[in-house]
Amino acid sequence: MLMEGRYWNEEIETMPRAELEEYQLRALREELEFAYENSPYYRRSFDAAGVKPGDLRELGDISRFPFIDKKTQRDAQGVGSFLGELCAVPEEDVVFISTSSGSTGVPTMSPFTQRDFDEWQDVESRIFYQAGMRRADRYLHALNFSLYVGGPDVIGAQRLGALCIWGGTIPSDRLIYILQTYRPTCMWTSPSYAWHLGETCMKNGIDPAKDLAVRRIFVAGEMGGSIDGTRKAIEELWGAELYDFYGLSDIFGACAGMCGEKDGLHIAEDHILVETVDVETGEPLAPGETGELVYTTLRKRARPMIRFRTGDIGRIDKGACRCGRTHGRIHVMGRKDDMFIVSAVNVFPSDIEAVVRGQKGITGEYLIRVTEKSYTCQYEVTVERSESNSSETDEEVADRIQRALKARIGVKPARVVVEREGALERSLHKARRIIDERKLTYSI
Ligand SMILES: [Zn+2]
Repeated sequence: MLMEGRYWNEEIETMPRAELEEYQLRALREELEFAYENSPYYRRSFDAAGVKPGDLRELGDISRFPFIDKKTQRDAQGVGSFLGELCAVPEEDVVFISTSSGSTGVPTMSPFTQRDFDEWQDVESRIFYQAGMRRADRYLHALNFSLYVGGPDVIGAQRLGALCIWGGTIPSDRLIYILQTYRPTCMWTSPSYAWHLGETCMKNGIDPAKDLAVRRIFVAGEMGGSIDGTRKAIEELWGAELYDFYGLSDIFGACAGMCGEKDGLHIAEDHILVETVDVETGEPLAPGETGELVYTTLRKRARPMIRFRTGDIGRIDKGACRCGRTHGRIHVMGRKDDMFIVSAVNVFPSDIEAVVRGQKGITGEYLIRVTEKSYTCQYEVTVERSESNSSETDEEVADRIQRALKARIGVKPARVVVEREGALERSLHKARRIIDERKLTYSI
């Protein structure tokens, strides 16, 4: 069947909110029952908290159920069986596992039944479609296939009907060969790699905007796609539209993505119940307030995730979007672990990136160093001046960036270091741009 309308699944994507919330309530009741009946972990934790699935009368009652987090996953992993105590199906029903990158400790494993897998890929098709991919597109999937949850997302593009090129994470020269020879119209990579790849093309005499066919770039795994300055710089370099996607190895490769309005990322609310909670107390916040995002899966069978604290700080906007979709839009500001506090102001690396990418005369690369002096937290930022910038001294550049940071964040950096172009290390896939040199542990 040809599907070239506005939506991948109009009924689900544009369901009136009241109906969507009724749907969520029914699905949530079933998910809680299923978890309680089949997962040794949830049976024990619900019992310990004195709650039963039947206690859920309305969506807000979810706050009576206990949280889980990465540590819960690690502790439950391998207990009782290979798949661990959070798993709610026998191993023979599991058809796929992915693992987290392990960037915050021991990698955690995420199991899927065939139904989980198929529904996940349907969400991928929806997110690709929402970002403008159509059957006539050629799609280059430049993500890691080895155990990484983003790998299989290419199947979602294939289900949509696009011609799919399973590129993986291969060296830049081979990707550039694919870009030149097969002329894909869409591509998915990380924001830092999209930038690096575009710059590499330029150095090789290929202008991505003129000489290549890529007109849509999907990015995930870093904040860049939602930072206006970064997004616009990549869009300009490639002559393409950039759409930010958001996923978690614990749930789906991508469970949220931008529509053409690019004002937050529509999250698949038919699969995920989103809460925001106070980072310190865990108390639920009203929709729209900024806090830690907490997700509950509504249909996952292999490993239901009930009240998973993601460590991501953000908010959800449930207001109407101009695209006509009714599913809420998440705005993620950054990782809880990356946030630091200077003079009582919460600072996210994404705020610093927004400033650095919006300034002329520097390359947009940066490094943040968080330090402490006399028991006070402070930060410094290293930037690179562009080779083409001959009108300013280093001091003038530093002064200008320092003032821009103060204006956006409210506290100025202890200093801005100006390096020559190319001095900062370019990361190929997931850029690490913050070094925390504090000896004290600050509670956040
Ligand atoms: Zn929208």
